[in-house]
Amino acid sequence: MIYKIVSAVLIVILIVALMMTASTSKKRQEEIDQLQQEIVVSNRYIQSLNDQLNKANNGTKPVKSEDERLLKVLNKYLKENKRNGVVTAEELSKYEKEDRFIPNLIPINGEYAISQHYKEEHPALDFAAEEGTEVIASATGEILSVYEDEYFGKVVLIDHLNEYATMYAHLATAIYDSKTFVKKGEPIGLVGNTGNSSAPHLHFEVLKNGENIDPELILED
Ligand SMILES: [Zn+2]
Repeated sequence: MIYKIVSAVLIVILIVALMMTASTSKKRQEEIDQLQQEIVVSNRYIQSLNDQLNKANNGTKPVKSEDERLLKVLNKYLKENKRNGVVTAEELSKYEKEDRFIPNLIPINGEYAISQHYKEEHPALDFAAEEGTEVIASATGEILSVYEDEYFGKVVLIDHLNEYATMYAHLATAIYDSKTFVKKGEPIGLVGNTGNSSAPHLHFEVLKNGENIDPELILED
């Protein structure tokens, strides 16, 4: 008799234990289902955010340019002008062609007189001006080099990040070192009489694709 009671109790305990296990696993399954549901909702939300981002970025994706240096300088330029610093293909071609990169600004800020025109043996334009007169960048660009030699005295060379480069010679002072980004019209030095020069003047050269051109063909009054 006692065995029957013990067996019955054990069976009851076993059944209760099985029921509890079943209930626990059912609960777990419900939790898993709920989490999976949440994952589906989250994924949908992430997808919609991605869609929105893709829409917003459409047409303003950064350009992959071969000329990373140009891109860097242009990004810097845009940043300085309180833009987001991202250059689009459209902007890039616009900026490349834009006037600010064309050396058509008279490179002297003050009184001057043309003392020598462009000719084969003098592929430059000379501006006679008082010593210390401001010499300004004829166009936006990056200073390629600053050096001094016996003939040209103190020289600043600017790369305008397109087919143009300009040279400013016989300077008394150069304001910046090479690799400096300068804006069109920004002072870059002072008129001087350094090198082979008999009176203070600026010797100004414009190079197009590495060849000298007559600055007067491009300069605007
Ligand atoms: Zn000259």
